[in-house]
Amino acid sequence: MNYIKKAGVMVMGVLMTAIMAGCGTVETGFSHDGRIPVVASFEATKEITEAIGGNKVEVLTVIPEGTEPHEFELKTGDIQKLQEARLFVYNGLGMEPWADQAIQAADNSKLKTVNLSRHITPIPLVDPEERKEHGAYDPHVWMGLSEAKAEALAVKNELQSVSPENREYFEHNYRQFAAETDALKKEYQQKFSHAPRKELVTGHAAFAYLCRDFGLTQVSVEDAFASGEPSAKRLVELADFCKAHHVKVVFTEELVSPAVSQTLAESAGASTESIDTLESSDDKSSYVERMRRNLEKILKAMQ
Ligand SMILES: [Zn+2]
Repeated sequence: MNYIKKAGVMVMGVLMTAIMAGCGTVETGFSHDGRIPVVASFEATKEITEAIGGNKVEVLTVIPEGTEPHEFELKTGDIQKLQEARLFVYNGLGMEPWADQAIQAADNSKLKTVNLSRHITPIPLVDPEERKEHGAYDPHVWMGLSEAKAEALAVKNELQSVSPENREYFEHNYRQFAAETDALKKEYQQKFSHAPRKELVTGHAAFAYLCRDFGLTQVSVEDAFASGEPSAKRLVELADFCKAHHVKVVFTEELVSPAVSQTLAESAGASTESIDTLESSDDKSSYVERMRRNLEKILKAMQ
């Protein structure tokens, strides 16, 4: 009896030590190397934050790689990053319905937050199915170059208040980002004005801002399986649309049913090409590089 009791106390002791050690070394992924710890909600907000923060910030995302942001649900472990961060950058417009809850739960008095979509004018959604999923406005604001620039300005202002000593550095990065996004938009507005085709067929409707800027119309394959199952009737309609408009390329996305896009392309006699909605990660390229790559691919498809 005595022995068992003693063993029990020892087990408790080990457990307590483990729990306390755990408290001191919570695994959040921040490397604590002197850079400012920043949390971005997902890939697109991370790219914009990194464009301004450069090597002065370490940006981790809440939504893990390979998860479609629209389908993410917050878990307790995700709060830990916010407890260590100085800034939380998120998109808003329904992309992160968990954001307010996460900020509250983190209970971090040093944490500043910025809802990027408050700094732009959003495009209203008209499709009832889209409104049901996303709310009144299209959340894919980062796909607009001018919107990204306005959001970068908001990130710059927040970073300057978190770290006044790096004021000039953030200012310089912002000016460069603004110049690059302006130039990219101007260059491709010129190029698209001569393109014979205007219909952009893609996985999900993430391109309203981009299409508005370049005089294009988006048609999304996701419409075909809004209720979970691809509708054969809708796929036939999409294929007919593609044929009628001589669509040469159906764009596919990593996280949105590439198989359906493939099927559509085959029945429409089109080819497929990947496109980047900045909802999945690409560590090797910057925001501007990724958008330039997208625009070049789309331009080619419109010839
Ligand atoms: Zn999306």
